[in-house]
Amino acid sequence: MATQSPTTLARTERARTLAARYPHAKEALDFYAHLIGFPGMREDLLRIIARYGPQLLRESARAEREPAVSFIERVLERQQPPVREAPHSNRCPSCGQKPQCAVLRPEGHGAAYHLMCNLCLTEWRYPRAQCPCCGAEGELAFYQLDLFPHIQIQTCDACQRYLHVVDTSKDPEACPDVDEIAALPLDVWAIDQGYEKITPNLIGI
Ligand SMILES: [Zn+2]
Ligand SMILES: [Zn+2]
Repeated sequence: MATQSPTTLARTERARTLAARYPHAKEALDFYAHLIGFPGMREDLLRIIARYGPQLLRESARAEREPAVSFIERVLERQQPPVREAPHSNRCPSCGQKPQCAVLRPEGHGAAYHLMCNLCLTEWRYPRAQCPCCGAEGELAFYQLDLFPHIQIQTCDACQRYLHVVDTSKDPEACPDVDEIAALPLDVWAIDQGYEKITPNLIGI
């Protein structure tokens, strides 16, 4: 069954909290805080990019080229996510996107494994032992840093992809799409090991 992630307000507050806690991710989280629930028009978004965006995005937005063009399209698309058939259980049941990250939510005496869509924030159940990208079983490995006790990197050696797993039983305040951005050092580790993310997040990591 699909469920919805925390509210816009909770996610914005979480972005501010994590920006204060993790200096390495402050710039990205401050920027993301402005994008959460962004209700405006293209012109407003251009102003946010000009003021808070990373250098690459600022420059490419001014020149109206990539990666800013796709970025703007994606933020605006978030306001009205498309309705598309999911070709497989590893795609969002609402809009057909690949998963952004995985979420463990307390259920009974354990935790239920969900995948989360970054476009419409739908969460849906998925078999924990299977790779969310290629479906292989028995190829998954996990890596963690002390800095993020509630987040693991899950890698698959069959397809060489990875994603973050956010465990909300270890941090009930966690908002998966926000915490995933704060956990940038885990991305650095995974990419260094030769893995590629299943889907880059909104700010392109
Ligand atoms: Zn979706
Ligand atoms: Zn795989």
